[in-house]
Amino acid sequence: MPDHDPQSVAFPTLDDDTLADFGRCSLTTLRRFRDGEALFRAGDRDSKFFVVVRGRVEIMDETGDAPKTVTVHGPGEFAGDVSQVTGRPAVVSGYARGDAEVYEVTREALREVLNAHPGLADVIFPAFIARRQLLRESGTFAGLRVVGPPSSADTFRVRDFLAKNNVLSTWLDTEADPQVADLLAQYGLTGSDTPVVLFGRRLVLRNPSNRELAEAVGLRRRLEPKVYDLVVVGAGPAGLAAAVYGASEGLSTVVLEQTAPGGQAGRSMRIENYLGFPAGITGGELADRAVLQASKFGAALPVASQVVRLAFGPAGPVLHLDGGEAVAARCVLIATGAEYRLLGVEGCDRLGGRGVYYAATPIEAAMCRGVDVVVVGAGNSAGQAAVFLASQARVVHLVVRGDDLHKNMSSYLARRVEQTPNIEVLFHTEVHRLAGGDALGAVELVNKRTGEVRAVECPALFSFIGAVPRTDWLPPEVERDAKGFVRTGPAVAQSPHWPGRRPPFFLETSRPGVFAAGDVRSGSVKRVASAVGEGSMAVQFVHEHLKDV
Ligand SMILES: Cc1cc2nc3c(=O)[nH]c(=O)nc-3n(C[C@H](O)[C@H](O)[C@H](O)COP(=O)(O)OP(=O)(O)OC[C@H]3O[C@@H](n4cnc5c(N)ncnc54)[C@H](O)[C@@H]3O)c2cc1C
Repeated sequence: MPDHDPQSVAFPTLDDDTLADFGRCSLTTLRRFRDGEALFRAGDRDSKFFVVVRGRVEIMDETGDAPKTVTVHGPGEFAGDVSQVTGRPAVVSGYARGDAEVYEVTREALREVLNAHPGLADVIFPAFIARRQLLRESGTFAGLRVVGPPSSADTFRVRDFLAKNNVLSTWLDTEADPQVADLLAQYGLTGSDTPVVLFGRRLVLRNPSNRELAEAVGLRRRLEPKVYDLVVVGAGPAGLAAAVYGASEGLSTVVLEQTAPGGQAGRSMRIENYLGFPAGITGGELADRAVLQASKFGAALPVASQVVRLAFGPAGPVLHLDGGEAVAARCVLIATGAEYRLLGVEGCDRLGGRGVYYAATPIEAAMCRGVDVVVVGAGNSAGQAAVFLASQARVVHLVVRGDDLHKNMSSYLARRVEQTPNIEVLFHTEVHRLAGGDALGAVELVNKRTGEVRAVECPALFSFIGAVPRTDWLPPEVERDAKGFVRTGPAVAQSPHWPGRRPPFFLETSRPGVFAAGDVRSGSVKRVASAVGEGSMAVQFVHEHLKDV
């Protein structure tokens, strides 16, 4: 039976044979560090992977006010975590305790070693994942500190961006904790500078854009100036699957993602119908695993990379990003999915991020403890959000326009909603008006049958109504249906844009070499499994197309 104790999974000891393999491997270097010398420091980019041969290495958390020991590695143990594979900065520091001798392995070399030795990957990957999990659950690891008030939409944006990208962070609420003002004063700052991002005692940024933040914390690097075999736009399940298959089959692959890997699935607190996870899996965990897998094969995944335009130059397609960068491709996969429509009632825009939300994750749920909340929608995402929020909120008011919960929601979920005592389903109901100044105060609901209007005092409304495709950045050569979803395969065979040398492949758009997969594709099944299936399948068509050109 495999060992599932998180501590022993996180901190295994390699046997003598494996250590000897590391010693013989041409990709590793034997290095000596004197007592107290740093092997790596929190914030270091491209920090190495170390296997302890002699002596000890102490892992320290230096992100809080005082340094704390996380663990001490002895001979046969190794220092490192997921950042060694994804290329993000180290989150902890490592110091030699006593004179220490270690094998040092670079990130590229580690990828080669893991790809060549699946047995070793079986030990190291679970350890990396378990270490991050233990750190997250320790309750004492500060990570980045975000300082700002709860009523600020920018504070919410920064926290949300970090959480979606799985960057460990803590929030210092300037309204709840008067000492936070003293902390700001130490940096010569006031409340008007918030949100402020700190790393240990170092000021990182004041009210950064997502791109500035991504660059500062190592989520985004400049791309190599070359023509990529495959540029995927969107890192939802479809884009991530294409990245894994593309990179593992030798295509130079980059995934351009505007917010964070995971897409809509990343917002799900429990996906229960994805094959292989009988107990369900959170969308965030599924995305983390996929990112690790795609990175292991060498795919690049720069976030805060919004594609604003696709153009066709003489040498092929070029993707233009919002910051002015351009990425050249031999093939493009459109995997930009869909997003929930804005609620379209008065106050909705102004209160976005200040009480009106389009996802229900632990960040939003933490604001709902013991209070009433409103969830709008009757599909699976609304059902999942209602059940998840019911564990925190006093009452969840589920606002449904029709009169049947089972029409658009999977029946297991509809039953769970009906059986949760603090979910109140309001049929024939719509949101009439939102009330609030800086933050949401109340939601006015109207029953369309009786005309009865009722106000629910609540700090949060979650909206999950009809999804629209994210295709406004595409040129006319890429044909779309009446609702804006991208047409592919037989549907574009007669298109005036299709050159007609051969029939288009099943996932090919009206422009040869440009493919579409997942929710963004016209006629696709809007599910995680089908998005993953289409993303993987698209890579096969990319190979076919490249054989031809
Ligand atoms: C809350 C919720 C719960 C769900 N639960 C389930 C479930 O339990 N089971 C199930 O099977 N399905 C579920 N679904 C549906 C499922 O998540 C989607 O079908 C799936 O995520 C579609 O994947 P995708 O990759 O096609 O698109 P998406 O997941 O929509 O991903 C698209 C990605 O593209 C990015 N993007 C968009 N435009 C650009 C641009 N211009 N430049 C760069 N990047 C861009 C987005 O930021 C996003 O990350 C759920 C959906 C939601 C919202």
